[in-house]
Amino acid sequence: MLAPLKEIVTRYGLLAQKSLGQHFLFDLNLTGKIARLAGDLTQGTTIEVGPGPGGLTRALLENGAAQVIAIEKDRRCREALSEVEAAYPGRLQVIEGDALKIEAAHLGVAPRRIVANLPYNVGTPLLIGWLKSIRSFESLTLMFQKEVADRMAAPVRSPAYGRLSALVQWQCEVKKLFDLPPAAFTPPPKVSSSVVRLTPKPVTEPADFALFERVTASAFGQRRKMLRSSLKSLGDAETLLTQAGIEPTARAEEIGYAGFAALARALQERTTTP
Ligand code: SAM
Repeated sequence: MLAPLKEIVTRYGLLAQKSLGQHFLFDLNLTGKIARLAGDLTQGTTIEVGPGPGGLTRALLENGAAQVIAIEKDRRCREALSEVEAAYPGRLQVIEGDALKIEAAHLGVAPRRIVANLPYNVGTPLLIGWLKSIRSFESLTLMFQKEVADRMAAPVRSPAYGRLSALVQWQCEVKKLFDLPPAAFTPPPKVSSSVVRLTPKPVTEPADFALFERVTASAFGQRRKMLRSSLKSLGDAETLLTQAGIEPTARAEEIGYAGFAALARALQERTTTP
């Protein structure tokens, strides 16, 4: 029988470290809810980033995960996680390391899914890395700062719509599952959090990932300006916009992911056409 999480944290002296974005979930109802919302875990591999003392990890295993591969940067969590490994023999593998440097798409076996209460300081770069090989995953069920989750789900023309919205919506269906107040965590963060499910969708607007990022970075870099002006750094913005079928007087917040994909294709055509 595993000891309660709070006891584990005390036993191994796992005082939360701010630099590692450590805000632990001890409430079994919440960790259970996240694990259930992550879908069927009985096939393939469930990848968890930042298991910490192992609260969500336990819930994933309790909810039938066939195999969990958990990546944790904080070596102090090793013993706490060893206890979970021993309680679920052969079903948990812990990788000690930085998730930013590990190619999650190659871990374990398909179907792969990622489930994580993410460290907020690296949540967005981790997500962008996973989006690059999104078709390696059947779903991502992730906890972010609420403000970041809102941006991912924001519709075109809304104040929160931006680079991240276009990029995520280009690749995935986005569903906000539920919000959590700061008090749900130990120690409480300054802001509220949200759990989001991202499901990869078929490619309807093919474009090069890096060029899509470049185009959205320029467009939203000056989001109040007309695109013919904000895209100047890409060179001959008016031609690019015409090729993409976008009014040069439009603004970034009015353009959905299909428009940015068309711009990325126009940019690519320019670089590949002699
Ligand atoms: N999963 C635990 C929970 O829900 O209670 C802990 C979540 S806490 C918000 C984030 C965890 O990510 C911490 O355990 C932290 O040490 C870990 N972490 C931070 N940066 C990391 C990185 N670059 N790679 C892997 N783990 C990281």
